[in-house]
Amino acid sequence: MSKDDKATADVHTRLAHGGRDPRAQHGFVNPPVYHGSTVTFPDVETMLSGRQRYHYGRRGTPTTDALTGLLAELDGAAGVVLCPSGLSAISTALLSLASAGDHVLITDSAYGPTRHFADGVMKRMGISVDYYDPTIGAGIAALMRPNTRVVMTEAPGSQTFEMQDVPAVAAAARDHGAFTVMDNTWATPVYFRPLDHGVDVALMAATKYVVGHSDVMMGTVAANDRAWPLLKAFHGDSGLCCGPDDVNLALRGLRTMAVRLARHQESALAVAGWLETRPEVAKVLHPALPSHPGHALWRRDFSGASGLFSFVTREMPLKAVAAMLDGLAYFGLGYSWGGFESLAIVADPRKIRTATTWNEPGHLVRLHVGLEDPDDLIADLASGFDRMNAVREG
Ligand SMILES: *Cc1c(COP(=O)(O)O)cnc(C)c1O
Repeated sequence: MSKDDKATADVHTRLAHGGRDPRAQHGFVNPPVYHGSTVTFPDVETMLSGRQRYHYGRRGTPTTDALTGLLAELDGAAGVVLCPSGLSAISTALLSLASAGDHVLITDSAYGPTRHFADGVMKRMGISVDYYDPTIGAGIAALMRPNTRVVMTEAPGSQTFEMQDVPAVAAAARDHGAFTVMDNTWATPVYFRPLDHGVDVALMAATKYVVGHSDVMMGTVAANDRAWPLLKAFHGDSGLCCGPDDVNLALRGLRTMAVRLARHQESALAVAGWLETRPEVAKVLHPALPSHPGHALWRRDFSGASGLFSFVTREMPLKAVAAMLDGLAYFGLGYSWGGFESLAIVADPRKIRTATTWNEPGHLVRLHVGLEDPDDLIADLASGFDRMNAVREG
């Protein structure tokens, strides 16, 4: 089998075989972890020529190359950079592309800290920011200004799970000469490859499914040929790098990511379907459910769904929701997601909207369905609803 066959193999095969070369490592299956700042050169001529592959730890090591190489293959990218958190991947993507005087459009359903960064740092730097309805699709063209440089997408939306017509938004941005960025943490390239749909820069909080074990913070940014020179230059100039042991844990996590995602998907759908039958639940926000308003877009563009979704309760006091969540045995109360364990948060999207309004009278509960047995998780939630109802009736 040739190298080219490997690059077109199924994603499970690529995750198992990419980013490593046992013959170059004395036959060991995994690449070694290079701890290093200093790199030495054999002579002055080599040092000054720039020909040596590695010259300083911050600028990359064989360990970081193994991870970025595999990620670039997964996303079909010209290049990938690593950042010390998902949020720093967001700031890196945006600042690589936008400069003082530029205008940036961001989906109203963006991850909260994305909005905070845009409204704070970016505005302070003279970049103007507007938010748009995530369901706008090709209508984004009407919001473009002569100086619109970046359109930021995220699908499904953080907490509220609106789907976006990413190809339509990306096509409108490109017609206008702007770049499209996508936060693809939810689907990962296993279920959606943004660059194949016209997006220029696809980023992930690798903290979530790539690492997969809730023990490392990391972000990744992948770019196509058009955006890669800008991303590479900004990343290098700003001195971002990740520690070798974290990079190694991310590479280790990637090996099993598609298998974990399949299990997250199946269990989350089982839990979501069950929640739809519960009288305490007003709505389940999961794009793979036929009841979801963005279901057709999800079916058209995505090949799967991960383990994160929300539900909205019927109108009730917060203390009834708290009684449910406080006593859960398997769902931890915690931000983040993407690890092997189930998690829950209660959130209020009302506070972080400007282009659209959130009118649900109930409370929004976001669940991450982990790798536990789904029947155990459903039983856990069922006792939670008993506690909720005891407070409502009491
Ligand atoms: C968690 C998250 C991030 C940020 O990742 P960190 O590693 O926590 O900085 C970015 N985008 C989305 C959609 C997230 O859920």
